Amino acid sequence: MEKEKGLLIVLSGPAGVGKGTVCGALRNEQTGIQYSVSATTRQPRKGEVEGVNYFFKSKDEFKGMIENDQLLEWAEYVGNYYGTPIDYVRETIENGQDIILEIEVQGAWKVRDRFPEGIFIFLMPPSLVELRNRIVGRGTETEDVINKRMTVAKEEIEMMKRYDYVVENDEVHLAVERIKAIVTAEHCKRERLFEKYKQLVEVK
Ligand code: 5GP
Repeated sequence: MEKEKGLLIVLSGPAGVGKGTVCGALRNEQTGIQYSVSATTRQPRKGEVEGVNYFFKSKDEFKGMIENDQLLEWAEYVGNYYGTPIDYVRETIENGQDIILEIEVQGAWKVRDRFPEGIFIFLMPPSLVELRNRIVGRGTETEDVINKRMTVAKEEIEMMKRYDYVVENDEVHLAVERIKAIVTAEHCKRERLFEKYKQLVEVK
């Protein structure tokens, strides 16, 4: 019998919705879901560790990864490149383990082309007011930049239609519980379990 593959879970959503925070909380719970560490050309922030938060690359190194087809998807975001190394994703799924990708919406869409069987979860802010507060709360953006980000965020929310699940991020621990419930339900899908149990009905 063919070994059951792991799930490819994509967590995406508008900028500022808290994808990183929710994914970090899920990671801390040690659910057994593996986490895909992205490559990026942006500078490490304080406390970020190579190979844990990101693989930090120069622009040339990143271009090399694109040319050698080492990325499942990549996107340019606010002047930097971000991409998902494909080998780890493939190996993890083939080994029967689940893996989660925390990526922005353009990249998520590209994953759909290569892994249509993936589970696409859209993280939703409780409201636009709340999203604006979160963007303002970072304290680094000017009014003009905040308005631009809000326009982009509204366009990104439109993308919700293309996802399998929508999870509201009203509170991080609740969002984490919802994602865990989705993963459990996906493991119980008949299409996934049919092969495993088929023999039970075949034996007369
Ligand atoms: P940050 O610079 O704040 O860590 O991330 C900026 C944005 O890039 C976030 O929306 C994050 O989800 C997204 N991101 C992180 N890694 C990847 C990746 O591998 N691919 C894509 N497409 N987006 C990513």
